[in-house]
Amino acid sequence: MSLDDLAEQIKLCTRCELRASATAPVPGFGDIGAKYMLIGEAPGGNEDKEGIPFVGLAGRRLNQLLELGGIDINDCYLTNVCKCRPPGNKTPRKAFITACKPWLMQEIRLVMPQTIITLGATPLGLFSSNGVGQMHGTIMEVVIPDAIKVNLIAQYHPAAALHQPRLWSVMLNDWQSLPESVPHDYMIVTWVRVKEWLNE
Ligand code: SF4
Repeated sequence: MSLDDLAEQIKLCTRCELRASATAPVPGFGDIGAKYMLIGEAPGGNEDKEGIPFVGLAGRRLNQLLELGGIDINDCYLTNVCKCRPPGNKTPRKAFITACKPWLMQEIRLVMPQTIITLGATPLGLFSSNGVGQMHGTIMEVVIPDAIKVNLIAQYHPAAALHQPRLWSVMLNDWQSLPESVPHDYMIVTWVRVKEWLNE
């Protein structure tokens, strides 16, 4: 299956009630073989309108951070845990995350990124029981069942600094500290949550 085929399937999804209030599901954006996969929580207002992840102010902030980390946006696949915008941009309920997770799994298996960067607590929660306040700026290794072993970097979501301005300097520091590539000896934590992935 191609990413375009997958995007078409996602756009037809009605698996959970988030679909009712969203303009349309927003599939990921990028290419197979992208070095980095960036995973946010869910589309916001601009993404919902335009059908592309990470546009608007949060997208511009993300571009700044990527530049600081020495990451070319063209090496990135951008996506979200939930593909439909939750009303009021609320954190998606667990049932919605569970319903949408198979799409993310398919994206990971097709793109096969070397490194996943989680942006915020919701995507990090798929891989770690620790919060983003504890894990931001750290790198771990994750095994995706039936897929690949990837490096995973936990970061705050760039939109978090819009509500908590003090986080911006923390983010700048985290992204500035990213190594150009992510060698295996840079890992500080190994975390495998195969059971949860298989059971949910
Ligand atoms: S949030 Fe995900 S599972 Fe729910 S309707 Fe949208 S695409 Fe489908």
